[in-house]
Amino acid sequence: MAGPDPLDKYREKRDFSRTPEPPGERKATSHPVFVIQKHHATTLHYDFRLEVDGVLKSWAVPKGPSVDPKEKRLAVPTDDHPLDYADFEDVIPAGSYGAGTVLVWDRGTYRNLTRKEGREVGVAEAVRRGHISVWLEGEKIRGGYALTRFRTGKGEAWLLVKMDDTEADPGQNLVATEPRSVVSNRTLEEIASGRDE
Ligand code: MN
Repeated sequence: MAGPDPLDKYREKRDFSRTPEPPGERKATSHPVFVIQKHHATTLHYDFRLEVDGVLKSWAVPKGPSVDPKEKRLAVPTDDHPLDYADFEDVIPAGSYGAGTVLVWDRGTYRNLTRKEGREVGVAEAVRRGHISVWLEGEKIRGGYALTRFRTGKGEAWLLVKMDDTEADPGQNLVATEPRSVVSNRTLEEIASGRDE
């Protein structure tokens, strides 16, 4: 028999007759995807998600990604999400889990760069071990990023850091200068009010 479905937690927290979020049906793709969703829930944050073994491994990044290798961004692990979620951009109704507006801030494909002693480490194993490096090919974000787990007093957290490569650009702050959706070109406010571009 199959083990527990990795999406059980995601589904348990949602009433799909109320929220427009997907229950999750799509199967893995040949080119693994990543997505960064700007989510104005109780607080504004950016959900960073990587396709790993048919689900989106997810972290909430309060400040969003940086293109400056000197900036370490806190990334708090959250529930696995279905692959369909990579296209999700809408308003999660009041009273529902994660209520608030979601905007697809960036998306694309990624390559695994994780190595240990010269050998590639698979993405699922890399996440389990607490260190994964990836090359992102988004519309806004490109280049290498490392996610590394560390212990805190309360449990675990991760840091998302831009790798020092040709795509690093300490002078830029894309979160501030590129606020719009890569899917609809809308802002969070426009999605919230149901307006088109
Ligand atoms: Mn979120």
